[in-house]
Amino acid sequence: AALERHIERMHESKVYPDVRNLNYKDRKRILVTGGAGFVGSHLVDRLMLEGHEVIVVDNYFTGRKKNIEQWIGHANFEMMHHDIVNPLFIEVDEIYHLASPASPPHYMYNPVKTIKTNTLGTINMLGLAKRTRAKLLLASTSEIYGDPEIHPQVESYWGHVNPIGPRACYDEGKRVAETLCYAYEKQEKVSVCVARIFNTFGPRMHMDDGRVVSNFVLQALQNLPLTIYGDGEQTRSFQYVSDLVEGLILLMNSNYSLPVNLGNPEEHTIQEFAVMIRDIVGGSSEIVTKPAVIDDPRRRRPDITLAKSLLGWSPKIPLAEGLARTIAYFRKELAKSVEPIRP
Ligand code: NAD
Ligand code: UDP
Ligand code: UDP
Repeated sequence: AALERHIERMHESKVYPDVRNLNYKDRKRILVTGGAGFVGSHLVDRLMLEGHEVIVVDNYFTGRKKNIEQWIGHANFEMMHHDIVNPLFIEVDEIYHLASPASPPHYMYNPVKTIKTNTLGTINMLGLAKRTRAKLLLASTSEIYGDPEIHPQVESYWGHVNPIGPRACYDEGKRVAETLCYAYEKQEKVSVCVARIFNTFGPRMHMDDGRVVSNFVLQALQNLPLTIYGDGEQTRSFQYVSDLVEGLILLMNSNYSLPVNLGNPEEHTIQEFAVMIRDIVGGSSEIVTKPAVIDDPRRRRPDITLAKSLLGWSPKIPLAEGLARTIAYFRKELAKSVEPIRP
């Protein structure tokens, strides 16, 4: 009886964000692979708030329970600790397939595993989609364009990827994942869509993610030197995570199946990013140069004409505002951590 009272009190005291009350026929069972990661957890928040049933599958390689703890115990939410390299038999209506390490240090840490996740893992998720007649959205990447000879990158560009370089496990893994989607579509009539995601940032990025935004923000917040790899003249275009999530949901709900770029076309050199981030943080860090990384793409910027006309989508959050929100998140995380974090 004491235990019963305790459990009752526990349930009563747990407060969840308000989710929409969807009626049974509009409510979908949605699988998010990689849902404990950076992008996945923001997508989970949106789908939960809309009133759907959400199942997260994650092996916690780079994801964290903390990113989705706000939903643990909620009647519409389920978390499965599972590695998608192994088959998965559950019943779903839609699959957002995001599971894959995404930052260069993470995907290079175990290249064979990265390839397995993107090939075997994607086959399993397509097999699941085939059996359940679910629609699958693949989180692909601008990295499939490699070091691009066409600028900005349009969806019709085939890319320029070194198949045996250190980035190949990820770039080629995602290229095969796209190929698999269209093979399953043609041969097995699986409904698919493919988002080619460009550099994305925001709260819940891993502290030791190793990507440029988290590195520069952590360095600036701790008055450490900002480390530019190479001459800093290479360019990237960064979108804020809520814009991406909006685009992913619009794409899943469209009837277009070929690849669509999702990114913010505002392009800057890495040197400019360093100065911008240091200025917003307001610290006194110096900016230093480190050796360039191998096969680093020289420039990257999405052509989003297709997403605009097809989905009526374009990024809403200005870079400075997104950076300010991200910096606020990292500041809080740093305050909580006992040891300094040296990216
Ligand atoms: P992330 O590392 O934060 O999230 C990836 C998630 O997948 C993690 O939770 C990780 O634990 C999980 N995962 C990895 N391998 C798995 C496996 N074998 N089985 C089950 N779970 C596994 O990265 P992110 O930035 O959120 O990226 C999410 C997706 O978006 C990835 O597919 C990535 O390739 C793609 N993407 C991201 C960006 C970006 O800038 N963030 C850009 C292009 C594409
Ligand atoms: N699969 C899965 N869940 C399912 C259905 C299939 O994980 O609900 C896996 C299955 O183990 C197989 C892969 O997905 O390895 C591809 O499935 P498909 O039906 O294309 O292949 P087959 O089973 O015919 O080899
Ligand atoms: N970069 C940098 N300093 C860092 C981390 C990254 O100069 O501390 C550079 C990196 O060489 C690349 C760009 O920033 O040119 C973006 O790198 P990131 O790893 O964030 O993403 P990706 O290369 O996948 O676009």
